[in-house]
Amino acid sequence: MDYNKIFSDGIVSLPPSPIRELLKVSQRPGVISLAGGNPSPDTFPVEDLKICFEKVMGEKPQKILQYSPTEGLSELIEAVRSLSLEDGIKCEMDNILITTGSQQGMDLVCKILLNPGDEVIVELPTYPGSLHTLRSYKAKITGVPVDEKGINVNLLEDIIRERAMKGKIPKFIYTIPTFQNPSGTTLSEERRKYIIQIAKKYEIIVVEDDPYSKLRYSGKFIKSIKSYDEEGFVIYMNSFSKIFCPGVRVAWMIADKEIIKKMIIAKQGMDLHTSSLNQAIIAEFLKQGKLKSHLDRIVPYYREKCDIMVKTVNECFGNRIIFTSPEGGFFSWITLKQDIDTKEFIYKAIERGVVYVPGSSFGPGEEKELKSSLRLSFATVNKNDIKKGIEILSEIF
Ligand code: PMP
Repeated sequence: MDYNKIFSDGIVSLPPSPIRELLKVSQRPGVISLAGGNPSPDTFPVEDLKICFEKVMGEKPQKILQYSPTEGLSELIEAVRSLSLEDGIKCEMDNILITTGSQQGMDLVCKILLNPGDEVIVELPTYPGSLHTLRSYKAKITGVPVDEKGINVNLLEDIIRERAMKGKIPKFIYTIPTFQNPSGTTLSEERRKYIIQIAKKYEIIVVEDDPYSKLRYSGKFIKSIKSYDEEGFVIYMNSFSKIFCPGVRVAWMIADKEIIKKMIIAKQGMDLHTSSLNQAIIAEFLKQGKLKSHLDRIVPYYREKCDIMVKTVNECFGNRIIFTSPEGGFFSWITLKQDIDTKEFIYKAIERGVVYVPGSSFGPGEEKELKSSLRLSFATVNKNDIKKGIEILSEIF
C-alpha cells in the first residue's frame, strides 16, 4: 500500500526531531555524546524504587493495577502539593494534574488553548520537544532572544504591545526560566516579576516549564514565576524525569481550576490517566521523605561534571566564544564569535567521535542568530570524556 496517500496533512508536514536523529548516532560504541538531554542512569534511585514497588504492591495491588482518575492518584497529588508549597507555589488539590511527562503537559496546553495559526511566543533558543508540539498544533511561533538573564522582557513586551494594537495578542508565552534547555541560563527575579506584570496587563497566559530547578549547583534558590502569580495567568509544569527517572513518565501541572478541568477532558482522549503503578511508586518515595536525600546525592554528582565542563570550555575556547556558566541543570550553550554554521561541522565531529547539537535545532525557523551556537550536555558523559570531547570540539572549530 502507498501509505503516503493516507497520512494526514499534519503528520506529513511535521519534520522528525533533529535531536532524536542525532541520538541514534550517539548510541554507537565509543562515541562521546554531548548531545542528549538524558539524566545519568547513575542517578536513578534503583534500590529505593524496588522498596517502594514492593511496598505498594504488597499494600494495595488491586488499587494500583486498576484504572485510576484522570487527574492522578490523590496520594501523589497531595505529595506534589506539599512539594509545591515548600517552593512557594500556593495551590489546592484541584489546581494539580498529573501527566505522562511534561511532554504530554505541553500537548495538553496546546490542545486546550490553540486554534491553527494562533501565535505563541517562545524563547530563542528553546526546547525542541516543545517546538515539535507547537508545530503539530499549527501554531505561529515567534522567538524572543535569551541573554545571560533569560528572555529579553523588553523585546517581549514590545512584541505583545504591537500585537495588542493590531487586536490579536499571542495565546501564550512559553518559558523555561530556570537552567534553561538549551542555554543553561536562569531568568532573573526582576524579569520574573516583570513577566507577571506583562501577563496581567495584556491578559496573556505564561507556560512555565520547570524540570531542572531542583538541580542547582551554585547560586541562590530563585522562586518560580508561578509563585508570583495571584490571578491564575501561569500554567506551571514540572516533572519527575530529571529528579527521579524519565522511564516512569510522571510529571505534574499546576494551574487555575478552570484550566485543569479542560485539561482533564483533553487528557481523557489521550491516555485516560498516567500509569497508576508508577504514580503510586513515586507517591511512596515522596511519603517516605526520600526525595531530599536523593537530591543530596545527585546534585553533587552533577555539580562535579558541570564544573569540569565549564572549566574545560573556558580553557579550550577562551575568548573565542560567548558563554554563560550554568548554575544548574544539564546544559551549556556556546556561541562562537566566528561567523560559522555549527550544523556544517557536525559530521566532522562525528568522524572524530563526538556529538553535540547545533544551535539551529533550537529555533522555530532557520534563525541566523542560532547558527554559530551549539548545546553541550554533561549529564550522561563520564568526567574524562567531557574533557576529551570539548578538547576535540575546540580543535574542530
Ligand atoms: N521540557 C523541557 C525543558 C525538557 O528539557 C524536557 C525533557 N528533555 C521536557 C520538557 C520533557 O520532559 P518529560 O520527560 O517530563 O516529558
